[in-house]
Order: sequence, then C-alpha cells, then structure tokens
Amino acid sequence: MTADAVARAVASGSAASAAQAGFAGAQAPRVSVVVPVYDEQTVLEALFARLYPALDALAISYEIVFVDDGSRDRSAQLLAEQFRRRPDVTRVVLFASNFGQHRAILAGFEYARGDRIVTLDADLQNPPEEIGRLLAQMDAGHDYVGTIRRLREDSWWRRTASRAMNRLRERTTRIRMTDQGCMMRAYSREIVDAINHCEELYTFVPALAWQFARNPVEIDVAHEERFAGQSKYSAYRLMRLNFDLMTAFSIVPLQMFSLAGMLLSVLSALLVFVLAARRLFLGPEEGGLFTLFAIEFLLMGLALFGIGLLGEYVGRIYQEVRRRPRYLVSAVLQDLEAPPRQAR
Ligand code: UDP
Ligand code: MG
Repeated sequence: MTADAVARAVASGSAASAAQAGFAGAQAPRVSVVVPVYDEQTVLEALFARLYPALDALAISYEIVFVDDGSRDRSAQLLAEQFRRRPDVTRVVLFASNFGQHRAILAGFEYARGDRIVTLDADLQNPPEEIGRLLAQMDAGHDYVGTIRRLREDSWWRRTASRAMNRLRERTTRIRMTDQGCMMRAYSREIVDAINHCEELYTFVPALAWQFARNPVEIDVAHEERFAGQSKYSAYRLMRLNFDLMTAFSIVPLQMFSLAGMLLSVLSALLVFVLAARRLFLGPEEGGLFTLFAIEFLLMGLALFGIGLLGEYVGRIYQEVRRRPRYLVSAVLQDLEAPPRQAR
C-alpha cells in the first residue's frame, strides 16, 4: 500500500460523497458490510477472524466499511492494521470523536459502494455467518431484511425493557419492527440512497429504512453473548435512544397531550359543577380540601410532563436548525485503486 492510497479527508456527512468520486469508475462490490466500532479492542481480532471467512465463503464481491466512532482505546490502530492486511476489501472511516452508533452507520452508508448493504455490530452478538441468510432474502425480492433475535443473550432487564419499548413504539410510530434492538440488517442500494438524502441529526437507522422499504421482511437470527468488553449503552443512553426513536418518527406523544387536556377540561368542568351544586344545596363544606389538593397535584404533574415533552421536540428543532455537521471524519483508509474483489 502506498502512502497516497491512504486518502485523508476531513469531511462532514455531505462532503463524504465528494470523497467517493474516486470510486466512480470502479465496479461496485455486490455487498458492503458496515460495522460501527467504539472501544472494541478486545473483540476486533475475533471479529476479523470470523467476518472475513464468512464473507469469503459466500463467493461474492464484497467490501467491509469499518467506522471507528472516536474510540479511546486501540480500536483505530487495530482497524488500520487490518486495512494493511486486506486493503482490497477493507475500508476504514475514522471519526474525530464519539458521535454515536447510528451516525457511525450513516457515515458507513455514505462510503459504502455495494448494491446491498448489511449492518453488523462489532461485538459478535450478531454471528457474521448469518449474512448469507439475509442476502438470500434479498435474492427473493425483499429490499429490507430485518431480524429478530432468537434466544436473545442479554440481561433480564434489557429484555423486559425492550419488549415494553417495542410495544409502545409500534403503537405511536406505526413502524413494525418486532425487534428494534437487533442491528444486523440488510438494505437495498435504493433504501441506502434515500437514507443518504436525509439530513436529520438524531435518527434511528432501521426505522428510517423501514419507512422507505417497499417489500420488507423479518427473519430470525442467532444471537450470542457479547464476545468481550461491555455494552456501550447505559440505561440513560438507552432511554435517550428511545426518545429519539419516538420523537423522530411520530408526534403522537404531543397529540396525546391535547387529547388528555381536552378530557381533563371536561372532567374539571363537571367537578366544578358538582361542587357548585353541593355549595348551593348542602351549604359550605371543608372536607373536600384534600381531594382538591390531589386533583391539583395530578394536573400539575401532567402539565409539567407536557412541558417536558414539548421541550423534547423544541430541543430537537433547535438542534436541527443549527445545522451542525452530523459527524467529523478525521481520516479515511482506503485503497482507491483496488478493484472490487471478484467472485471465486
Ligand atoms: N457503538 C458505536 N458508538 C457508540 C456506541 C456503540 O459505534 O457510541 C457500536 C459498538 O461498538 C457496537 C455497536 O455499536 O459495535 C453496538 O453497541 P453495544 O454492543 O455496546 O450495544 P448493545 O449490544 O449492548 O445494544
Ligand atoms: Mg452488543
């Protein structure tokens, strides 16, 4: 690999396509695998050892786009070493700092050239050997292949919480994903192109893709325990992610407030009427004071929750109007001359 084979670019999301120009003439690989990586030094070697043979076994042309999401450990070095070992099929996008899993995937989409794009977690929770089954569904004419984790290997509270979130999300957003948390998915080139045109900062890639899909399908895949290291999602980050998912794809939470407001106004009007009647017929009473307190607190709680929810949307609007770049790439490792790997 020559020094100029390492294209260095400082690019924002949209500028990434300019960096692609060098590939215009090259033949696109059949499939691009996009892997977001954040502090995964303990699993990367094991991932390389399984992912490359799994793709080689499919006997199709492929490329793997690793996006290092500003790792603080040795992940970026390990990816660079892997790029040196397999420059023909490896591309590495290095973020300047941590922008989150979904933005890392979006960056991977900008750089991916394949006519089918598969996303995969780096921690080997999604077995790379399943990629062939996803692609078989695309051969059958589906443009989006979602997945459901068979025997999910996660902690009890994660499973329960995500079951509840899945249900709530399906009600509010009308997006049907049986298992929103499983990121091993396959998308057609058309869907990825459509996603590349979206400029929103906070998004949830599988949900966005589902909206563009014409013929989606879901299949069961195996799920393994994280190979090493720890989950990058704390309870707080998971909650934020779910807020993004709900507010980015639906305004039902806001509409619920107008409905609740209407209902409460009617009920309070009735209450006022009852109290006035009692005052007229029974004379002055004191016993109702605490009931009134209880009602007052309930209304106050509801009002505060409503204001907070409004804040979620206003905050998002604020962040979107600033139009800051979605991510900042510090370097891209790719061999611009490498022809896509041919089928064996
Ligand atoms: N990830 C990332 N940026 C982040 C958090 C996670 O790129 O800020 C990557 C991580 O390296 C992994 C994938 O996203 O490849 C899923 O993360 P993790 O396994 O921690 O999530 P979980 O499986 O617990 O939902
Ligand atoms: Mg994981």
